[in-house]
Amino acid sequence: MLVHKTLYHHMMNGIPRSSVDAVVIGGGIAGCAAAYELARSGLSTTLVEKGAIGYEQSTRNWGWVHQQVRYPHLIPLGVQSVRIWNHLAEELKSDVGWIQGGNLSLGFDPADFEDFETWHKDAAQQGLETRLLSREKIKELLPELRGEWTSGLYIPSDGQANPDLVTQAYANAAEAMGASIHSECSALKIDVTGGKVSGVLTERGQINAPIVVCAAGAWSSRLLRTIGVHIPQRAVRSTVVRTTPVSPLTKITAWGDGVTFRQDHLGRFILAGGASSIYDLDGDLLRDFKRFLPLAWRNRRWVRMRVGKRLLADLGAMVPGTKARREFWQRRRRIDPPPDHAAVKRSLQRFQEMFPSLEIGVDRSWAGYIDSTPDQAPVLGAIDKIPGLHILTGLSGHGFALGPGAAQLLADLITGNEPSVDPKPFRYQRFAENDLAPVHQYRR
Ligand SMILES: Cc1cc2nc3c(=O)[nH]c(=O)nc-3n(C[C@H](O)[C@H](O)[C@H](O)COP(=O)(O)OP(=O)(O)OC[C@H]3O[C@@H](n4cnc5c(N)ncnc54)[C@H](O)[C@@H]3O)c2cc1C
Repeated sequence: MLVHKTLYHHMMNGIPRSSVDAVVIGGGIAGCAAAYELARSGLSTTLVEKGAIGYEQSTRNWGWVHQQVRYPHLIPLGVQSVRIWNHLAEELKSDVGWIQGGNLSLGFDPADFEDFETWHKDAAQQGLETRLLSREKIKELLPELRGEWTSGLYIPSDGQANPDLVTQAYANAAEAMGASIHSECSALKIDVTGGKVSGVLTERGQINAPIVVCAAGAWSSRLLRTIGVHIPQRAVRSTVVRTTPVSPLTKITAWGDGVTFRQDHLGRFILAGGASSIYDLDGDLLRDFKRFLPLAWRNRRWVRMRVGKRLLADLGAMVPGTKARREFWQRRRRIDPPPDHAAVKRSLQRFQEMFPSLEIGVDRSWAGYIDSTPDQAPVLGAIDKIPGLHILTGLSGHGFALGPGAAQLLADLITGNEPSVDPKPFRYQRFAENDLAPVHQYRR
């Protein structure tokens, strides 16, 4: 993570301007890309980040840029995002580590194959090329792979990028377009005056603005709740492993049984336990537990529940007049959850079973909280009951891939440009209308 180098620079950025066209809350890929798009459209834009740029999900992810993100209605946003990824380095004038090596899902039983067939049809209907692979074809793609794989689904236009570079590249490009970016500057409250958004109160002063974009990742629901906007959101802890380097083997990102991998530009493999994750119980999850039950049930094989510090801290902050409540954001400036060591061991072991000829060990492991909504789709667009308020959050484990397209779509909606993708599946009102996409579509 490149955060330390950039932190100093942004701390020196001083007090935010007191009046701008738009304030973006959150310096992850969503917020930085939104600030870039808004500044590019000519709006004076300020971004505030409670910690350091990209410190939460956006630098902790696997680096996958995949288009077939669980539900058919997310495919168009995935496809649009890849269009952007294809020329992002040029656009941002910065290396983003983009490699279009394809994505492979591996299957070993008839249920996997059925699953792949459904994906294949759904993707074909939307014009996304996917290939159903036999065991022989898988061998051609990955000759060193061992295991009883019988089928695969391959998407040649998927890719990977370097999470350490992308969010910062967006922040730099936003600044080059005239935006101002402030790290170590928590948004304490979104201001609403006369029913409309009027700005943001930050720990470094008030910023007046008729447009506010909430892109606060796992913290969005907490910020929004204080002004009567409720989005069901939960955060699950997911562990990532980086191996010691080996010679270049593949440019493919792949999902096998209980392990995912990609090889980075330095030859290191980035491994994770697929859907395996930990629910650290907190206030958000408790509040909306019922809405997340179908998702938890579907992933019951891989998910474990933990009750601990996170819940205690949330409960403490609920008591009015306490320091824990007053200093809520400052105490959560940098969240660095511990990796799950059992998951590290398991991922490495599964990977070694797949590639026994590779001599690798663990170089580093880390964890991050993935924020998600009950239907695993982002919340993107305006909140009609509070003019000026816009949301770009709940990217549900796909935000690295979808971030560029999602930010562009939001900017189009704000500035009145023709949107490149239908924004309807992402509207906030879907929760009130109970119009959510089913969560049991694909096994992977
Ligand atoms: C382990 C892991 C693996 C993943 N793998 C992939 C993958 O391979 N491909 C993929 O597409 N996606 C992946 N994801 C998901 C992806 O990383 C996220 O969807 C994406 O980064 C979300 O971006 P974001 O900007 O919405 O949130 P974040 O990156 O979390 O950024 C939100 C920012 O808002 C800031 N903030 C919060 N509250 C405030 C406040 N009050 N004031 C100011 N700032 C505030 C936070 O500090 C944070 O920096 C993964 C995520 C994790 C954790």
